[in-house]
Amino acid sequence: MYCEICGRPIEGEPIPIEVDKAVLYVCRSCAATYGKKVIQQQAAPAVKKTPRPKPAAPRPPPPEVEIVENFGEVVKKARENLGLSREALAAMLGVKETVLRRIEAGQLQPDFALARKLEKTLGVRLLVESVEEGVAQTGRGAERGLTLGEVAEIRDGGEE
Ligand SMILES: [Zn+2]
Repeated sequence: MYCEICGRPIEGEPIPIEVDKAVLYVCRSCAATYGKKVIQQQAAPAVKKTPRPKPAAPRPPPPEVEIVENFGEVVKKARENLGLSREALAAMLGVKETVLRRIEAGQLQPDFALARKLEKTLGVRLLVESVEEGVAQTGRGAERGLTLGEVAEIRDGGEE
């Protein structure tokens, strides 16, 4: 194969370029010099590539749910309040009594399905969203942060 522009033998692959709307197969240096537009593949039909659909925006992850730390205590107290034996509750949950015992002892963390069952059966809350709600959370007086007013006071008083 000889270069269609300079006539020199082409080493390697001839490069198709478009010159005045004609396709020429040329050597590398001619392609670099004359190739206004290098055609990728002669055989390829001039079909527009369909743009790839953009990957969908990642969904916000579902709120993280975690089991309360003292789940064992919660389960045990609730069970006792209901006057249920461990056997009875285990049967209601469809788990072995040993499993329930370990859960109550805090040795075994129930999976979400079981925790949900426990919640429903005992009327307790075992799963909490582990989202830091921070300021938005109100209602508990015990752990009160600084109010805006107090923050302002500190700012005003602290520096000149
Ligand atoms: Zn050439």
